[in-house]
Amino acid sequence: MSDHDHDHSHDHQHGHPHRHPPAPDIELSDRAKRSLAIQELLVEKGIIGQDEIRRRVEEQRGSPMNGAKVVARAWVDPEFKERLLTDARAAVAEMGFEFPDDTGLVVLENTEDRHHLIVCTLCSCYPGALLGPPPDWYKSLPYRSRAVNEPRSVMSEFGLEIGEEREVRVVDSTAELRYMILPKRPAGTEGMSEEELAELVPRDSMIGVAEPMPPDTIRA
Ligand code: FE
Repeated sequence: MSDHDHDHSHDHQHGHPHRHPPAPDIELSDRAKRSLAIQELLVEKGIIGQDEIRRRVEEQRGSPMNGAKVVARAWVDPEFKERLLTDARAAVAEMGFEFPDDTGLVVLENTEDRHHLIVCTLCSCYPGALLGPPPDWYKSLPYRSRAVNEPRSVMSEFGLEIGEEREVRVVDSTAELRYMILPKRPAGTEGMSEEELAELVPRDSMIGVAEPMPPDTIRA
């Protein structure tokens, strides 16, 4: 949010700009006041819980680049990959990516034999700290209802054909348990650095509706 960034005019009178924490009586913009009032009303009416608000804020802080960095690290570091697949929360915390205390995280590895697809059939649960806010299609009723029953046709509409020799496993997220996919490392990426590899990992490949990009995408 940029509202906060704009309001530094008072700092320059102190001679120690940006060092002190915001004063408790900091003047809120009209937009911030309105949003706070709406938030209080929603909580008061029991429409939304404080926990849910906190989760949404976490989601806004995340970005798919975080997830891509985690994937690239797992591709180059087998011990990290092991930790990621056994205790994902702790592994991503090593890289500074935090989840709320009550939110579990499981990372599932795509292999030659198995492909995973992530959905939240109830609403839109999603590993926001690693992938940012969920895309609109992820929240849509058609995706949520079809992903479980006809995953191959859904993926095919995204341009992803999974061969019959690979099992497709659909995992249903909840508020307490989020999933992310560790996609297969593309062929021909042997000499690439972790930073270069991260550029090959689009958001959709960590949800399961795409594969990572081939290496010539960034060498071109
Ligand atoms: Fe959900």
